[in-house]
Amino acid sequence: MSELLKNYVAGAWVAGQGSGTPLVDPISGDELVRVSSVGLDLPAAFAYAREQGGGGLRAMGYAQRAERLAATAKLLQANRDAYYEIATANSGTVKNDSAVDIDGAIYTIGQYARWGAALGSENALLDGSRVGLAKDNAFVSQHVLVPTRGVALFINAFNFPSWGLWEKAAPALLSGVPVIAKPATATAWLTQRMVADVVAAGIWPEGALSLICGGSAGLLDALNSTDVLSFTGSAETAAIIRGHRAVTQRSVRVNIEADSLNSAILMPDAAPGSEAFDLLVKEVVREMTVKSGQKCTAIRRVFVQETAFDAALEAIAARLGKTTVGNPRNETVRMGALVNREQHASVLAGIEMLAQDARIVLDGRQATLIDADPAIAACVGPTLLASLDAAAAHRVHEHEVFGPVATVLAYRSVVDAGELVGRGGGSLVASLYGADAQSLADMALSLGDRHGRIHVISPEVAAVQSGHGNVMPQSLHGGPGRAGGGEELGGLRALGFYHRRAAIQAGPAVLDRLPTLSSHG
Ligand code: NAP
Repeated sequence: MSELLKNYVAGAWVAGQGSGTPLVDPISGDELVRVSSVGLDLPAAFAYAREQGGGGLRAMGYAQRAERLAATAKLLQANRDAYYEIATANSGTVKNDSAVDIDGAIYTIGQYARWGAALGSENALLDGSRVGLAKDNAFVSQHVLVPTRGVALFINAFNFPSWGLWEKAAPALLSGVPVIAKPATATAWLTQRMVADVVAAGIWPEGALSLICGGSAGLLDALNSTDVLSFTGSAETAAIIRGHRAVTQRSVRVNIEADSLNSAILMPDAAPGSEAFDLLVKEVVREMTVKSGQKCTAIRRVFVQETAFDAALEAIAARLGKTTVGNPRNETVRMGALVNREQHASVLAGIEMLAQDARIVLDGRQATLIDADPAIAACVGPTLLASLDAAAAHRVHEHEVFGPVATVLAYRSVVDAGELVGRGGGSLVASLYGADAQSLADMALSLGDRHGRIHVISPEVAAVQSGHGNVMPQSLHGGPGRAGGGEELGGLRALGFYHRRAAIQAGPAVLDRLPTLSSHG
């Protein structure tokens, strides 16, 4: 039997009871390691994190914690090779795709380290400026942000075992809030190794970082009203979490990042053969194939005007057809595996479902695999579907297939396109492709209430744009409606989730005696 990975709780490495759940190589099906959280004393683990971890973190100020973040980024950078090996083995990703998860995490931690360095040595932030409540400002209101004294519990999805932890942990730790990480079981190995390295290096105070690998039973019960919970995963699990009494009765603050039917929109001015048209084709193919489409931000729906429909289908399918699929250890392979056979079955079922409303143009189920047995490997090739009757393609607007699958849909006018995009029910990101700055600006604003991010690509930014699906710490990540309603990142705004906002109403004599606080910007 493979090694049972330990959990890190209450300052000790503890094995869960029983033989645990195996984590597998999605190419060979081989068992790699096991995880178990059975029998852990969760109330004690949470109390230890709150008291020891929170106390230790609050004994420092923002700038000191930012230094620890910088040390964390440096350490992870030094151990990158080991992380890449685990990602290849457990997530089935090619090197470029592992980089999105591993290097993306290191970059994000480094960015928060840089921002945090400017926040000074206190443990509270100003939120806006003083507003008068009486004549001559003799009595005023000043809002402040104070770090919560609870823990931040992170329940994460399988597709980003590295970035998914660190994009949340960086603002939490910078805020002075201890972290309890619960990675998705399927890919928990990478998270476990990273946390083990950081704990061994003694960068953070005892209790600042805890790790629970395996089932989630009892985690929400252990939360109290000072804690916060950030969840990334499916809409179904999100609904369970929202209904838990920790949330409904104890007012635990929750951030939810769920599934999303993201769009790419070719603007009417971008005729086939134009630069903007080519940029869309390239980006759609990249989004469908990076991490085998297992990105919450990946493009699922591609909107093009009826006149460009056939040309877009042809260009996207031709480019996708060159994607080599199979064992990520083979250097000729561009796209590796889905995370496991369960996801494989779910993607195949999803393609069947979409095919009821759209025709299959390129069928990845028939793809020839390199160095991988189709009966064992969790691989599926890029699959492109299409429908000229976008309004009637209900399933395409409602069902997220979490794999290398997208549908090209025709629209008649820009207004029509906006309405069709909105059928996704609220999404993380939409990208626009065109050359007319005014129509791009108008469209970007009109989509703003239904998206967390609008990514606008015109020829002059082609070489420098950060990518439709790349989540940059500088920009908001999250989305309304079915995307979960959450907000993460967006620079120092992210710190707001880990603080409580309070209004101090007082005279200037008292307010002037507050320490000099920075603004969270
Ligand atoms: P999932 O099945 O909902 O699992 C997510 C996490 O929740 C896992 O850690 C899982 O643990 C845990 N969990 C399961 N049942 C739970 C319960 N009753 N109480 C508390 N925790 C529970 O989602 P997934 O399949 O890992 O992730 C795929 C989905 O995540 C996709 O829909 C994707 O769009 C979405 N996603 C969104 C974002 C974003 O930022 N918006 C990013 C990445 C992925 P176990 O693994 O142990 O079951």
